[in-house]
Amino acid sequence: MYKKSEEILERSLASIPLASQTFSKSITQYPRGASPLFIERGEGSIVWDVDGNEYIDFVSSLLSITLGYCDKDVDKAVQEQMKKGVTFSLPHILETEVAEKLIDLIPCAEKVRFGKNGTDVTSAAIRVSRAYTGKEHIAVCGYHGWQDWYIGSTARDLGVPDSVKKLTHKFEYNDIDSLERIFQEQELACVIMEPMNTTYPKDNFLEKVKEITHKNNAILIFDEMITGFRYSIGGAQKLFGVTPDLATFGKGMANGYPLSAVVGSNKIMKKMEDIFFSGTFGGETLSLAAANAVIDKYKNQEVIKHFNKMGGYLLEQLNNLIDNEELSNIFWTSGYFSWSFLHIRPQSQYSDFEIRTFFLQEMFKRNILTLGSHNLNFSHSKRDVDKLLDAYREVLPTIKKHIEEKSLLENIQCSILQPLFKVR
Ligand code: PMP
Repeated sequence: MYKKSEEILERSLASIPLASQTFSKSITQYPRGASPLFIERGEGSIVWDVDGNEYIDFVSSLLSITLGYCDKDVDKAVQEQMKKGVTFSLPHILETEVAEKLIDLIPCAEKVRFGKNGTDVTSAAIRVSRAYTGKEHIAVCGYHGWQDWYIGSTARDLGVPDSVKKLTHKFEYNDIDSLERIFQEQELACVIMEPMNTTYPKDNFLEKVKEITHKNNAILIFDEMITGFRYSIGGAQKLFGVTPDLATFGKGMANGYPLSAVVGSNKIMKKMEDIFFSGTFGGETLSLAAANAVIDKYKNQEVIKHFNKMGGYLLEQLNNLIDNEELSNIFWTSGYFSWSFLHIRPQSQYSDFEIRTFFLQEMFKRNILTLGSHNLNFSHSKRDVDKLLDAYREVLPTIKKHIEEKSLLENIQCSILQPLFKVR
């Protein structure tokens, strides 16, 4: 089933470390022998691997696909721009047009700067916060990218200087005391956080974070790389009614084209004029044309409503399955409609990685591309979701059976995934 994938992997490993540019697309995540490893093309919610296998894709290119592969309106906008040129010697009007649209939609946005990857703009937000406040320490909660200031706070910190690591402090979501403690010990320039990932904010957590951050003359940054263009068209800040000082967007805002943005209040963004945040491709026009078309589509069609309907149905049915089949000792769900999760609990006999390996092997066999989360896009139909649920109805009870009968490992036909550093 995966012959060509395996062949390309061998070839690729000779020229590319881990054979991928993105950690979460690499063989660290997909068990070798039971996974497709290279994709050839996609359309709507469907992708085809290099062996010609077809999948409903619930990874959605790590959430950067919000409308679906090869969206016709986005493609048309990009093709028209391509005829005029891609990157120029001076700024292009599209930068202003898309900035104006973001300002119109996102509560905290009064000014906008663009980047390519999410890390570009989270790093710019950190730098501008340090410049604005004159302070160096920062607090983080969630995942924020590959740069020293963030990745130094994780277990995968190889190559990050200690002097940089010392400046970053982690706090726990929904645990205001964990942030309060950092403020008691450090002068913080800013607090950067995902406004939500797996768990809903409890007891006015976001309001409380904002309050103590401002009380300490620090800047609040919501990293909306995923929640933006998913939770609401104005992001999680709009949905939860808490406006930060700065916010970062990326991923789905251009339906797979490389574009990210840092937005925020006039007074803080003014400082962008003094710091150095600059890149050759920051104003690249194909991605901006794509973002323009994406935003128009969100405005004209009920994209968020579709996410909520499909995601609500999926979670309801999946939770019913877990209840009816008495699977809650092994599986549980979390998250929001457009980005929800099926979690695996380790068992006395089997680690969560062993169970996960079997789970992925069986889901791929049933033509579902998944990493355990439900990363919805506008092309996912009820039929797609029903096919995912049908696969769950077969695979999850089988896992329970193999755990009870202690027969899981003998049914794994591939190498077992190794424990990885966790960021959420
Ligand atoms: N912040 C969040 C919340 C993210 O999910 C990601 C990407 N997974 C990033 C920042 C970094 O974005 P990128 O990988 O595009 O640099």
